[in-house]
Amino acid sequence: MQITYNLKPALERRTEQFLPTTNVGFGNLRTDHMFLMDYRDGEWCDPRVVPYGPFQVAPGAIALHYGQSVFEGAKAFQHEDGEIYTFRIDKNAERLNRSADILCIPALPEQMQIDAINALIDVDRLWFPMQEGACLYIRPFIFATEDRLSVSPSEQYTFCVMLSPSGPYYADGFDKAIRLLISERFHRAVSGGTGASKAAGNYAASLKAGKAAAEYGAAQVLYLDANNKQIEEVGAMNHFHVRKDGTIVIPKFTDTILKSITSESILDLGELLGCEVRQETVMLDQFIADIESGEIVEAGGFGTAAVVSPVGSYIFEDNRIVTVGDGGVGEHTKRIYKVLTEIQKGHIQGPEGWVQHVKRVNV
Ligand SMILES: *Cc1c(COP(=O)(O)O)cnc(C)c1O
Repeated sequence: MQITYNLKPALERRTEQFLPTTNVGFGNLRTDHMFLMDYRDGEWCDPRVVPYGPFQVAPGAIALHYGQSVFEGAKAFQHEDGEIYTFRIDKNAERLNRSADILCIPALPEQMQIDAINALIDVDRLWFPMQEGACLYIRPFIFATEDRLSVSPSEQYTFCVMLSPSGPYYADGFDKAIRLLISERFHRAVSGGTGASKAAGNYAASLKAGKAAAEYGAAQVLYLDANNKQIEEVGAMNHFHVRKDGTIVIPKFTDTILKSITSESILDLGELLGCEVRQETVMLDQFIADIESGEIVEAGGFGTAAVVSPVGSYIFEDNRIVTVGDGGVGEHTKRIYKVLTEIQKGHIQGPEGWVQHVKRVNV
């Protein structure tokens, strides 16, 4: 892939925002550039790195009206050698294509996606925050650009990658557990729908549920299946629980659950974590009974942004509250978080190929 570069003059990039003492937060900042590539006449073309800025988009663009748009979220880390490494970026590229397929968006070869991400990180590597625990959050996405109001798959698309220099998700330490609202009113996905894709529209559809959760003092909704019997996942993370014997349980991936790369990593790590990790159908009634009997001792969410989100309690729509363990962050949850983040930071060696060096080509 021959990428063209239209680079901004090298500026004083590391402003005070990037000093080790500043908490840059998550997702707030942008880098100087973005990667773009278009799809027209049946093929992906014109790969380019350009200054980050607004798009020219037709008011009739299909993505704006009918939501034909999918995205990814990944992270890159700076290791002690000063070099930047992506984490399982091939899995994100593969998943973007799975999501694309569900929304009738043409696939973009995985290696092209990876080359695009590497090229962008390479030119914007000076934007890596100096803070301990920082990362470059990577956001690739594809949206339909054809200007047409009849409903059928667009024949034109744009693939874009943007980067957000981000601080550690848990800037004040990994010690607060969240509350989730178990809702029988809101549903994220139904079998045969778009639940297994990272579709923009799934997120639009979750906003109202997020508001309802906040009214209950909860961070998010824990979604159940359409019959309100099984535990599925949270809007932007998979769900897990830990049994008293240390076994980590993640609900079985179905077409109503997005296959989290964090979950897959925990499943792959199993042994390195020193416990069994398995997937099964998780029935809500049994889950609650097991928390109350002390059989389930910890619970939480898995997702790229936070890596692990400990859940301390659940609240039902009738205000009943169920507390997991002592409501704090348990030992197993801490260990999972530690092992995964240490692999990401290059402090411990993960399985072959998980971290990939971003080569210096332009900088
Ligand atoms: C992105 C996402 C996740 C988390 O996936 P990761 O690959 O671990 O970041 C979980 N559930 C949904 C619905 C998501 O969109």
